Amino acid sequence: MSGELCAFCGDEYIVDLLEFWTEERAWMFDACCEAAHEELCEMLARDLEGAREWVRELFADYGYPIRRVYASESEMALRVDFGLELRDISLVEAKAFIGEHHRHNAPPVSWRWGHAVYNGHELIAVAMVGRPVARMIDASKVVEVNRLCVNHELDSELTWKACSMLYTAAAKEAERRGFEKVITYTLETEAGTSLRYARWKPEHTTRAQSWNRGARKRTDKAPTCRKIRWARHLKPVVVPKVDDRREMEREAKRYGLELPDAEPVMQDDAA
Ligand SMILES: [Zn+2]
Repeated sequence: MSGELCAFCGDEYIVDLLEFWTEERAWMFDACCEAAHEELCEMLARDLEGAREWVRELFADYGYPIRRVYASESEMALRVDFGLELRDISLVEAKAFIGEHHRHNAPPVSWRWGHAVYNGHELIAVAMVGRPVARMIDASKVVEVNRLCVNHELDSELTWKACSMLYTAAAKEAERRGFEKVITYTLETEAGTSLRYARWKPEHTTRAQSWNRGARKRTDKAPTCRKIRWARHLKPVVVPKVDDRREMEREAKRYGLELPDAEPVMQDDAA
Protein backbone atom coordinates (compact mmCIF):
# COMPACT_ATOMS: atom_id res chain seq x y z
CA MET A 1 0.00 0.00 0.00
CA SER A 2 2.95 2.37 -0.32
CA GLY A 3 3.99 4.52 -3.23
CA GLU A 4 0.65 4.11 -5.01
CA LEU A 5 -1.28 7.30 -5.53
CA CYS A 6 -4.96 7.61 -4.74
CA ALA A 7 -7.16 8.21 -7.79
CA PHE A 8 -9.46 10.37 -5.71
CA CYS A 9 -7.31 12.66 -3.58
CA GLY A 10 -3.95 12.36 -5.35
CA ASP A 11 -2.05 11.65 -2.12
CA GLU A 12 -0.49 8.34 -1.23
CA TYR A 13 -3.20 5.66 -1.27
CA ILE A 14 -3.76 4.40 2.26
CA VAL A 15 -6.20 1.82 3.53
CA ASP A 16 -5.65 0.61 7.03
CA LEU A 17 -7.32 -0.87 10.08
CA LEU A 18 -8.33 2.07 12.27
CA GLU A 19 -10.14 0.30 15.09
CA PHE A 20 -11.10 -3.25 15.91
CA TRP A 21 -13.62 -4.19 18.60
CA THR A 22 -12.89 -7.83 19.30
CA GLU A 23 -15.95 -8.34 21.53
CA GLU A 24 -18.31 -7.06 18.85
CA ARG A 25 -16.24 -8.62 16.04
CA ALA A 26 -16.54 -5.31 14.25
CA TRP A 27 -13.92 -2.99 12.80
CA MET A 28 -13.44 0.34 11.13
CA PHE A 29 -11.14 1.14 8.23
CA ASP A 30 -9.05 4.22 7.78
CA ALA A 31 -8.33 5.62 4.32
CA CYS A 32 -6.51 8.57 2.79
CA CYS A 33 -9.80 10.18 1.87
CA GLU A 34 -13.53 9.66 2.13
CA ALA A 35 -13.89 8.61 -1.51
CA ALA A 36 -11.26 5.88 -1.14
CA HIS A 37 -13.00 4.71 2.03
CA GLU A 38 -16.34 4.55 0.28
CA GLU A 39 -14.90 2.66 -2.65
CA LEU A 40 -13.44 0.08 -0.28
CA CYS A 41 -16.74 -0.40 1.54
CA GLU A 42 -18.55 -0.87 -1.76
CA MET A 43 -15.97 -3.37 -2.91
CA LEU A 44 -16.38 -5.41 0.28
CA ALA A 45 -20.15 -5.34 0.03
CA ARG A 46 -20.05 -6.36 -3.62
CA ASP A 47 -17.34 -8.98 -3.56
CA LEU A 48 -16.64 -10.24 -0.06
CA GLU A 49 -15.34 -13.51 -1.47
CA GLY A 50 -12.72 -11.68 -3.51
CA ALA A 51 -11.78 -9.33 -0.68
CA ARG A 52 -11.58 -12.04 1.94
CA GLU A 53 -7.91 -12.86 1.57
CA TRP A 54 -6.98 -9.21 1.54
CA VAL A 55 -8.95 -8.54 4.73
CA ARG A 56 -7.51 -11.61 6.42
CA GLU A 57 -3.98 -10.41 5.72
CA LEU A 58 -4.77 -6.96 7.00
CA PHE A 59 -5.99 -8.42 10.32
CA ALA A 60 -3.03 -10.79 10.52
CA ASP A 61 -0.65 -7.81 10.17
CA TYR A 62 -2.15 -6.45 13.36
CA GLY A 63 -1.82 -9.75 15.20
CA TYR A 64 -5.41 -10.95 14.77
CA PRO A 65 -5.35 -14.27 12.95
CA ILE A 66 -8.90 -14.79 11.74
CA ARG A 67 -10.73 -17.63 10.00
CA ARG A 68 -12.75 -15.36 7.77
CA VAL A 69 -14.85 -12.27 7.40
CA TYR A 70 -18.52 -12.89 6.81
CA ALA A 71 -21.73 -10.98 6.21
CA SER A 72 -23.76 -11.30 9.39
CA GLU A 73 -27.46 -11.56 8.64
CA SER A 74 -28.44 -10.82 12.21
CA GLU A 75 -26.42 -7.61 12.35
CA MET A 76 -26.54 -6.60 8.69
CA ALA A 77 -22.82 -5.95 8.68
CA LEU A 78 -19.47 -7.59 8.08
CA ARG A 79 -18.10 -9.44 11.07
CA VAL A 80 -14.95 -11.30 12.00
CA ASP A 81 -14.83 -15.05 12.63
CA PHE A 82 -11.71 -15.80 14.65
CA GLY A 83 -11.89 -19.55 14.12
CA LEU A 84 -12.29 -22.28 16.70
CA GLU A 85 -10.21 -23.11 19.72
CA LEU A 86 -10.64 -26.18 21.92
CA ARG A 87 -10.29 -25.54 25.65
CA ASP A 88 -10.91 -27.17 29.01
CA ILE A 89 -14.01 -26.29 30.98
CA SER A 90 -15.19 -26.80 34.55
CA LEU A 91 -18.35 -28.74 35.41
CA VAL A 92 -19.97 -25.61 36.83
CA GLU A 93 -19.30 -23.62 33.66
CA ALA A 94 -20.49 -26.43 31.40
CA LYS A 95 -23.74 -26.85 33.31
CA ALA A 96 -24.39 -23.13 33.25
CA PHE A 97 -23.84 -22.98 29.49
CA ILE A 98 -26.05 -25.98 28.76
CA GLY A 99 -28.77 -24.74 31.12
CA GLU A 100 -28.84 -21.55 29.10
CA HIS A 101 -28.57 -22.89 25.55
CA HIS A 102 -29.68 -26.49 25.21
CA ARG A 103 -32.81 -26.95 23.15
CA HIS A 104 -34.41 -29.97 24.76
CA ASN A 105 -32.49 -31.23 27.77
CA ALA A 106 -31.36 -30.09 31.20
CA PRO A 107 -27.66 -30.54 32.01
CA PRO A 108 -26.63 -33.86 33.61
CA VAL A 109 -25.70 -33.74 37.28
CA SER A 110 -22.25 -35.24 36.92
CA TRP A 111 -19.66 -36.09 34.30
CA ARG A 112 -16.30 -37.67 33.73
CA TRP A 113 -14.94 -34.72 31.78
CA GLY A 114 -15.90 -32.03 29.30
CA HIS A 115 -14.70 -29.91 26.40
CA ALA A 116 -15.33 -26.36 25.34
CA VAL A 117 -14.99 -24.57 22.01
CA TYR A 118 -14.29 -20.86 21.81
CA ASN A 119 -14.48 -18.50 18.89
CA GLY A 120 -12.28 -15.60 19.88
CA HIS A 121 -13.26 -14.53 23.39
CA GLU A 122 -16.60 -16.27 23.21
CA LEU A 123 -17.61 -19.68 24.57
CA ILE A 124 -19.77 -21.07 21.77
CA ALA A 125 -20.16 -24.82 22.37
CA VAL A 126 -19.77 -27.42 25.12
CA ALA A 127 -19.66 -31.22 25.39
CA MET A 128 -20.17 -33.23 28.57
CA VAL A 129 -18.83 -36.77 28.66
CA GLY A 130 -20.04 -39.26 31.27
CA ARG A 131 -21.32 -42.75 31.99
CA PRO A 132 -23.61 -44.40 29.45
CA VAL A 133 -27.21 -43.76 30.43
CA ALA A 134 -28.35 -47.25 29.34
CA ARG A 135 -27.56 -49.63 32.19
CA MET A 136 -26.68 -52.61 30.01
CA ILE A 137 -23.76 -50.76 28.46
CA ASP A 138 -20.50 -51.44 30.32
CA ALA A 139 -19.44 -48.16 31.94
CA SER A 140 -15.90 -49.42 32.42
CA LYS A 141 -15.39 -49.69 28.66
CA VAL A 142 -17.76 -47.16 27.18
CA VAL A 143 -18.33 -43.46 27.75
CA GLU A 144 -21.12 -41.34 26.41
CA VAL A 145 -21.29 -37.77 25.20
CA ASN A 146 -24.32 -37.03 27.38
CA ARG A 147 -24.77 -33.48 26.16
CA LEU A 148 -23.46 -31.46 23.29
CA CYS A 149 -24.67 -27.94 23.11
CA VAL A 150 -24.13 -24.97 20.81
CA ASN A 151 -25.21 -21.38 21.27
CA HIS A 152 -27.62 -21.19 18.35
CA GLU A 153 -28.25 -17.50 18.87
CA LEU A 154 -24.90 -16.81 17.26
CA ASP A 155 -24.41 -16.48 13.52
CA SER A 156 -24.02 -19.98 12.12
CA GLU A 157 -20.66 -18.97 10.58
CA LEU A 158 -19.17 -18.68 14.06
CA THR A 159 -20.15 -22.17 15.17
CA TRP A 160 -19.24 -23.85 11.89
CA LYS A 161 -17.49 -27.18 12.64
CA ALA A 162 -17.69 -26.69 16.42
CA CYS A 163 -19.73 -29.86 16.98
CA SER A 164 -17.45 -32.16 15.04
CA MET A 165 -14.50 -30.63 16.88
CA LEU A 166 -16.17 -31.56 20.20
CA TYR A 167 -17.01 -35.11 19.08
CA THR A 168 -13.45 -35.61 17.89
CA ALA A 169 -12.03 -34.25 21.15
CA ALA A 170 -14.29 -36.49 23.22
CA ALA A 171 -13.21 -39.58 21.27
CA LYS A 172 -9.54 -38.68 21.56
CA GLU A 173 -9.74 -38.15 25.30
CA ALA A 174 -11.76 -41.34 25.78
CA GLU A 175 -9.11 -43.28 23.91
CA ARG A 176 -6.37 -41.66 25.97
CA ARG A 177 -8.18 -42.78 29.12
CA GLY A 178 -8.38 -46.34 27.87
CA PHE A 179 -12.04 -46.58 26.88
CA GLU A 180 -12.92 -48.86 24.01
CA LYS A 181 -15.84 -46.96 22.64
CA VAL A 182 -17.56 -43.62 22.84
CA ILE A 183 -21.25 -43.25 22.07
CA THR A 184 -23.89 -40.57 21.85
CA TYR A 185 -27.53 -40.21 20.86
CA THR A 186 -29.26 -37.90 18.45
CA LEU A 187 -32.94 -37.53 17.83
CA GLU A 188 -34.12 -39.34 14.74
CA THR A 189 -35.02 -35.95 13.32
CA GLU A 190 -31.44 -34.66 13.57
CA ALA A 191 -29.06 -35.15 10.66
CA GLY A 192 -25.90 -36.20 12.47
CA THR A 193 -23.72 -34.38 9.97
CA SER A 194 -21.12 -33.31 12.51
CA LEU A 195 -20.90 -36.87 13.84
CA ARG A 196 -20.19 -38.12 10.34
CA TYR A 197 -17.55 -35.42 9.95
CA ALA A 198 -15.95 -36.71 13.16
CA ARG A 199 -16.04 -40.26 11.75
CA TRP A 200 -18.67 -41.66 14.12
CA LYS A 201 -21.11 -44.24 12.82
CA PRO A 202 -24.78 -44.89 13.58
CA GLU A 203 -25.10 -48.27 15.27
CA HIS A 204 -28.57 -48.52 16.71
CA THR A 205 -32.03 -46.97 16.72
CA THR A 206 -33.78 -46.96 20.06
CA ARG A 207 -37.50 -47.33 20.58
CA ALA A 208 -39.36 -44.38 21.99
CA GLN A 209 -38.92 -45.14 25.65
CA SER A 210 -41.11 -42.86 27.55
CA TRP A 211 -44.74 -41.84 27.29
CA ASN A 212 -47.85 -41.46 29.37
CA ARG A 213 -49.28 -44.84 30.22
CA GLY A 214 -52.95 -45.24 31.11
CA ALA A 215 -54.21 -42.96 33.82
CA ARG A 216 -50.78 -42.26 35.26
CA LYS A 217 -49.70 -39.04 33.68
CA ARG A 218 -46.00 -38.42 33.60
CA THR A 219 -44.22 -35.27 32.67
CA ASP A 220 -41.40 -36.15 30.33
CA LYS A 221 -38.53 -33.78 30.53
CA ALA A 222 -36.65 -35.35 27.64
CA PRO A 223 -38.07 -35.84 24.15
CA THR A 224 -39.78 -39.16 23.61
CA CYS A 225 -39.23 -39.75 19.91
CA ARG A 226 -36.86 -42.39 18.59
CA LYS A 227 -33.15 -41.83 18.91
CA ILE A 228 -30.13 -42.95 16.97
CA ARG A 229 -27.09 -44.21 18.83
CA TRP A 230 -23.77 -43.24 17.27
CA ALA A 231 -20.44 -44.78 18.16
CA ARG A 232 -16.78 -44.50 17.52
CA HIS A 233 -14.62 -47.51 18.29
CA LEU A 234 -11.36 -46.42 19.81
CA LYS A 235 -9.24 -49.53 19.56
CA PRO A 236 -9.24 -52.27 16.98
CA VAL A 237 -12.13 -54.54 17.82
CA VAL A 238 -10.87 -57.75 19.42
CA VAL A 239 -11.80 -60.59 17.10
CA PRO A 240 -14.00 -62.94 19.09
CA LYS A 241 -13.95 -66.70 19.10
CA VAL A 242 -16.16 -68.55 16.64
CA ASP A 243 -19.21 -68.88 18.92
CA ASP A 244 -19.30 -65.15 19.62
CA ARG A 245 -18.64 -64.24 16.06
CA ARG A 246 -21.91 -65.56 14.72
CA GLU A 247 -23.76 -63.36 17.20
CA MET A 248 -21.63 -60.39 16.23
CA GLU A 249 -22.27 -60.94 12.55
CA ARG A 250 -26.00 -60.89 13.21
CA GLU A 251 -25.62 -57.62 15.11
CA ALA A 252 -23.40 -56.14 12.46
CA LYS A 253 -25.86 -57.00 9.72
CA ARG A 254 -28.72 -55.46 11.66
CA TYR A 255 -26.89 -52.18 12.17
CA GLY A 256 -25.04 -52.12 8.88
CA LEU A 257 -21.61 -52.27 10.49
CA GLU A 258 -18.44 -53.84 9.19
CA LEU A 259 -16.71 -56.58 11.12
CA PRO A 260 -12.95 -57.10 10.87
CA ASP A 261 -11.87 -60.30 9.20
CA ALA A 262 -11.76 -63.33 11.45
CA GLU A 263 -8.30 -64.45 12.49
CA PRO A 264 -7.43 -68.12 12.64
CA VAL A 265 -8.69 -69.33 15.99
CA MET A 266 -6.03 -70.87 18.22
CA GLN A 267 -7.06 -74.01 20.03
CA ASP A 268 -6.52 -74.00 23.75
CA ASP A 269 -3.70 -76.30 24.82
CA ALA A 270 -5.71 -77.68 27.71
CA ALA A 271 -7.31 -80.86 26.45
ZN1 LIG B 1 -7.46 9.23 -1.24
